[in-house]
Amino acid sequence: MVEILRANQQNLKEAGKAIRRGELVVFPTETVYGLGADATSDKAVAAIYKAKGRPSHNPLIVHITSLEQAQKYGKFDDRAKKLAAKFWPGPMSLIVKRTENCSLSEIVSAGGDTVALRMPAHPISRQLLEAANVPVAAPSANLSGGISPTLPEHVKQGLGDKIFMLIDGGACLVGVESSVISVLPNESVKILRPGSIDANDVAQLLGEPIEQSQQSKSAHDILISPGLLSSHYAPKVSLRMNVNQPHKNEAYLAFGKHGFSNHSLNLSPSQNLHEAAQNLFAMLHALDAYCVENKFSIAVAPIPNTSIGIAINDRLTRAAAPK
Ligand code: AMP
Ligand code: MG
Repeated sequence: MVEILRANQQNLKEAGKAIRRGELVVFPTETVYGLGADATSDKAVAAIYKAKGRPSHNPLIVHITSLEQAQKYGKFDDRAKKLAAKFWPGPMSLIVKRTENCSLSEIVSAGGDTVALRMPAHPISRQLLEAANVPVAAPSANLSGGISPTLPEHVKQGLGDKIFMLIDGGACLVGVESSVISVLPNESVKILRPGSIDANDVAQLLGEPIEQSQQSKSAHDILISPGLLSSHYAPKVSLRMNVNQPHKNEAYLAFGKHGFSNHSLNLSPSQNLHEAAQNLFAMLHALDAYCVENKFSIAVAPIPNTSIGIAINDRLTRAAAPK
């Protein structure tokens, strides 16, 4: 079982070396914990898929430290450059065409001609990327289909016997995964996965309308971004959304003031959606464990579908989808 290691200079240096040797290293980002490996190595990238049990058709996000580095691997048009200038470093992954001489493993693109690139803002992610000195492929550090980890303990429970190192960064500040935005030639800009970046801000920045994938995914959308598959982020027990009055055998995930004290956790008593996003996965992990033990299921309060609430509802809809 892997140890949870402090993010000091020595451990980060070791982690960088381990990535270059092809090992799997889990590290914190501002969104969720990432399961990192050298994105230029087929073998290292294949190990990510194996550890997660991730279907090979679902491509990975590659983490980089500068726009210059990103442009070695992906073709940035003016729209992509504008988005990068505004939202990087930060919780945004851009889908662009791979460059002709792209040295990334083809497996990160699941054999396609596009690549997802992200420049994280979290100081520990950045130090790790600098120590590794290679682009790092890193999906969320959970078993495929499960709840994403926002604490090192979540990673240890799910992948503890499959990884080489686990760097502690405490709780992740954003709490939901990056916004995935595709910027491909002759296509409108699309938000394939909602995150903390507001679609209106993207449209305003680019001065053009953008598309936002709806929660019921068409077969076409799933082909474009297989991570949009409906069941995902799923707890072991079943989950119901938009519940004002939980049943007796349900643990309640509340939002705002509510009158239930038993078996309940509150995403944000003050109805702050950013706080709710930060708490979402940790509270789902906790309620799931409680419900498995007590043969309960989970009921979730209505969450306003605005700003980062769109990302929260997206994750909950997939958590509620039949498996
Ligand atoms: P994860 O890193 O596990 O949170 O998932 C990464 C998300 O990015 C998934 O939804 C993927 O389907 C999506 N993604 C990664 N690369 C691409 C790509 N080249 N084209 C479309 N979607 C992608
Ligand atoms: Mg994931």
